[in-house]
Parts: sequence; C-alpha cells; structure tokens
Amino acid sequence: MTRYFNGKEVELLAPAGTFEIFQEVVRSGCDAVYLGGPVLNMRMMRKGYNLSREELAEAIQITRSLDKKLYVTVNNLLSEQELEEARDYLGFLDEIRPDALIVQDMAVPALVREMGLGLQLHASVMMNTHNLEMVHALRDLGVSRVVTSREMDLQTAKHLGRESGMELEYFVHGDMCSVHGANCYFSSQVFGMSSNRGKCMKPCRWDYRIKKDGYIYPAEYPLAVKDMYMYEHLPELIESGITSFKIEGRMRDKDFITMIVNSYGDALDRYIDDPVGFEREVDAKLLYKNRKRDFSTAYAFGKPGLRNINRRYEGTGKFYSTGKVFSTPTAERELSEDRVLKLKERLVAELRPGRTPDAAGIAVRVNNMAQARAALEERVEHLYLSGDVYEPDRPFTKRDILELARIKGETKLILALPRMMTELHFDQYDQLLIHGERLPIDGLLVTNLGAVRRYSGTGYELIGDTSLNIYNTLAAKTYARMGLKRLTVSSEMTLDHFAGFASKSDLPVEMVVHGTPALMYMEHDLFENTEVMEPVGEEDNRYVSNEVLVLMTDKGENPVYRDQHGRSHLLFAKELCYLPMVRELALAGISSFRIEGQTYTPERLREVIRAYRDALSGNGAAGEPSEQELVNSLTPVYAGYTLGSLQFN
Ligand code: SF4
Repeated sequence: MTRYFNGKEVELLAPAGTFEIFQEVVRSGCDAVYLGGPVLNMRMMRKGYNLSREELAEAIQITRSLDKKLYVTVNNLLSEQELEEARDYLGFLDEIRPDALIVQDMAVPALVREMGLGLQLHASVMMNTHNLEMVHALRDLGVSRVVTSREMDLQTAKHLGRESGMELEYFVHGDMCSVHGANCYFSSQVFGMSSNRGKCMKPCRWDYRIKKDGYIYPAEYPLAVKDMYMYEHLPELIESGITSFKIEGRMRDKDFITMIVNSYGDALDRYIDDPVGFEREVDAKLLYKNRKRDFSTAYAFGKPGLRNINRRYEGTGKFYSTGKVFSTPTAERELSEDRVLKLKERLVAELRPGRTPDAAGIAVRVNNMAQARAALEERVEHLYLSGDVYEPDRPFTKRDILELARIKGETKLILALPRMMTELHFDQYDQLLIHGERLPIDGLLVTNLGAVRRYSGTGYELIGDTSLNIYNTLAAKTYARMGLKRLTVSSEMTLDHFAGFASKSDLPVEMVVHGTPALMYMEHDLFENTEVMEPVGEEDNRYVSNEVLVLMTDKGENPVYRDQHGRSHLLFAKELCYLPMVRELALAGISSFRIEGQTYTPERLREVIRAYRDALSGNGAAGEPSEQELVNSLTPVYAGYTLGSLQFN
C-alpha cells in the first residue's frame, strides 16, 4: 500500500515494540512499520520488548504480503566490543532484507560498505540532522533517508528536502526529548546509562525548582516536554515535502498505537481524496482524550517556548503506561579514592606500549578573552575559542582572534564552531573562514557532521569535538577519511568501552578531563520561566553566583547557561575531575587532556591547568606529590568532584 499526494509518496510510519503488537499494527492504517531486533537498538530497557531474529524474518514476510514496508532500528552508539556482534547482525539483516535500517552510529554505514551489503540506510533522529551540509554528508555515506532533528521547523525541512532531493522523515506524534538529539549526557554521566545507547533514565522528567537572582520559581517540571501532535496539520506536513510521517511509541501497547495510526491514516486518506473540503479535527477529541501528556506541535512552526512544557501531573514524574515512578533525582557520585584506584588498575591493564605522559598536552576551551590570555600564559598546547559563548560574554570577534594569534606563542589557536549550525551559521562561518582574509588560526574544533564536510579541504586542521559522539574506531576512521586529524572521544564512555577504544584509535585522542561540560544542550530557553513566573521564595545559589540560573533538586544544583544563539547548556552540578589518573590515561592512549574552562575565573583556570601540568610531568617518584595530594590541593569550586561516566562499567 502506498499513498500519494500530487504524485509524491506520503508514508505513515508506525512503531511496534513486540511481534504481537507488530501483527496488529501492520494491519492498521500505516504504510510502513519500524521496530527493533534482539540487539543494538535504542529500546533495550524493557524486558520482553523487541523481536527475535526469527520474528524479524517473519515480520518482513508479513509486511511484504501486505505490500507495506518494514524498517529495523540499529540505532544506538556501538562500543568497540559490539562491532563484531554488529557485523554478524548486519549479515543476518542482509539475508532477510528489511526495506531499510534506521541508524545512528557512523560505524554502521562503514560496515555496510565494508561487507558489501545491499541494505538501505535511514539516518535516525539520533544523528540530529539539522543542516543541508549534513544531509549531503549522509548521502555521501550511502544514506537514502533522513529523520530530521526534532527541533527542525517545517520551512527548514522544506528547504533541506528541496535543495538535497533527500527523502525526509518527521516525527508527527508521541513522546519527545527536551534536549537536542544525541546531545543529552545526563543519564550516562550520573547513572552510566547512555541515552544514546537506549538506556535513558529520563532526568528530564524530574521535579526541579528554578533559582535565579536569589529567587525560587515554581517551575516543577521545567524539562518535561509535551507529546508531539501534528494530526491537525497534515496539509502543512505534506506541503513541506516530508515523505514519511513517523509516530513514536515502540514501548506503547497495541490498542493505543493502532488507535493513533488509524486516526492519522484516515485523515491522510480523507485529505488525499478531498484536500479542499478536508476536515482537520475529526478524531482530535479521541486523540486528546487518550493522550499520555498534553499536546504540542513542538518546533514544527517555530520555537514553541514554554508552550512545549507539560504542566499536567501525568507524564511528568511517571512513565509509560505503567504509572510507575521510573527514576528520581540522584546526585552525581562523589570522586572517591576507592573508585580512582579501581579505574587506575583497569587503565594500567590497557596501557599502550611506547606511550609516555610527557607526550600528552593540555587543551582548554574558553568563553572570553581573560580566560584565553590566562591559558596562553600557562602555555597550553591547544586553546579553543568557544563557538557557543555563555552570556553575558560575547562571541569572539575577528579582532580578538587577531590579538590572540599575536600572543599565542607555541599554543595552537583553534576556533570552535557552534555545536549545531543552521544555514545562517554556515553563511557567517563561510565568509569568515573561506571567502574572507585567511585567519591566523591553527585549526577548527568541528562539532557536527555538516561542518566536517564543509570545512575539510579548506586548509584548517580539523579536530572533532565530543558532540560527534565518536564511540568506536570504525566511526573514528570514517571521520578520519572525511578530514579529522584528531578526535575527542565521546564524553559518555564507560570504563570498559573506553578501554576497548582508546588504545586502538589510529587518530590522536583527546578527552575532556576537567571542568563543567554540558549534560544537556537544548533549544529550549529555561530563562523564560523567570520572565513569566512569580517567585515563590528566596534563596541564594549554593555554588555559583546568583546571576546564574540553576535547576535544583534535593540532590544538587545544576547551573544552566544560555549561549549567544539562545540555547541552554545544563552543566554538571559537580566538577568533572580525572586528575588522579591522568598519567594512566596518557599511557592508555590519551594524547590531549581537555579542560572545559568556560565557567572558570582566569585564576581558577590557571590553578587547574597547573595541577594537570604537574600531574602529567610527574613520574610518581618519591618526593613528588601523589595524585591524590594534587587533587586535595585543588579545592573544588562547585559541589565537589565526580568521575562522570568513566566510573561505570
Ligand atoms: S533525559 Fe535526555 S535523552 Fe532522556 S528522554 Fe529526557 S531529553 Fe531525552
């Protein structure tokens, strides 16, 4: 079954979590079904869900007999240890031939090519595709369809589709994230459960208070977004050129899913039959009555602001249809000597022959000129000028760059790009980097696939940032082929995964080892709460100045900074600190140690750089301070130190 409007295919794509649900859903009003197999997909948390290999093979036969399509999700980040399993699984999938795989990790296209498989590939929403250059890059990698980023409006989607000719898929109904796709590291850093590997503990659904300027605001669930609802906007979706209308809900039961699918399917059929006389609201009440949360059109028609946040109790602290509390506020684990010892033992077991800590350097990301000057005076090896500058600082100007280039000495001066880049950003950076006078910088810190493609071959050395989520050596190789000269390892690796990866990488590997990197990177502007709400109390921030917005639970306070693009960065409550094992990390394969210094005073930044320099240059000989003594001498300025995801197995 295929639907067409004005001769162009329109597909209603339904989810199925189990074979039983699939059998029902595939016979409902959808054109295609997506589901996960027994391994390597994003819905691995609930027992009894996903299909076995035999069920997958049967599902494909059933789908074909109904003249529909079936897509299999192979859509989590793959650890080094999982690459063999992926090879075997992809070989099996090639035999049973689903209509496409939905993928996130760059290793999957690499494996499909390497193994000579005939599988079609769709880029998952977890690839966070948000600019035209990314679409082109994905096509180069063999991808035939792209699920757009959740924050993409329909006008931008229309532009991308027209300019690239690529098939686009768009979420039209169901549960959404408040954080940009694949940019949410809260669950991995606090629980060791990566949301990019299908194990999210959903801290976005926790009950928080907002504090700012000494006032408490009654925000309650400020990160809990409403469910997507585009039922009344099918004409606009079709007009924008979207091919596939995707319904979320692989964890939902069959009655709920078939009800939604049949409502959307019926609306599509009515619109195709009589577009002018089309009634938009026929099943609106039914869908609203059976909703899990309140509804929103999210970013389809522009930035929704607080209208996108769920205010009802249901669907905030409770999860799925069970009504059970899924997770509760949890503190970041404090760095302890015991944990450090275990980590060091494991790292020593992974030592890479021939490495010495002396060869390793220090990289620092800064937010302003005062920090930049301090880092240069400390002679760091790499200085990154952030492309996402936290307010109230302003973006680095050309004059700033010229001044820093004049005094940089041996330091490599690197311009970091914004983490997500719109067409407007490319326009600006193209002028600055390609068409204007050449900048006296040594390279670019590239943050998204589109930027890698656009700026490779321009003569600037490319260093991959953490937002590329490089989790295995095959993904690293793909980026190396595209022009990366160094990569920053995914910030959410557990110890096992790190051990499997770092010592095998052909590219030099950098690691974020200290500071307050972002756990969540959002289009959503949390500061709006303080503009529209009346405070309910007064209280000073505990660790950062009162001008900084914090999200507070009884387990901690996470600072939130807004950048010059209006995006919110929610940071660790504690400081990430790998100082006690820096030598072992160097011996295990890390050649550059990054300090995320954007929120530090210049004095604090100097202190941290010196501590890492001392740790790297020491050799543990008698008379030198031990690593624990180094940590003790560096008093935390936030709520303590934590070891982040690396402390988990
Ligand atoms: S915590 Fe992050 S990844 Fe998990 S559901 Fe919420 S926004 Fe999505």
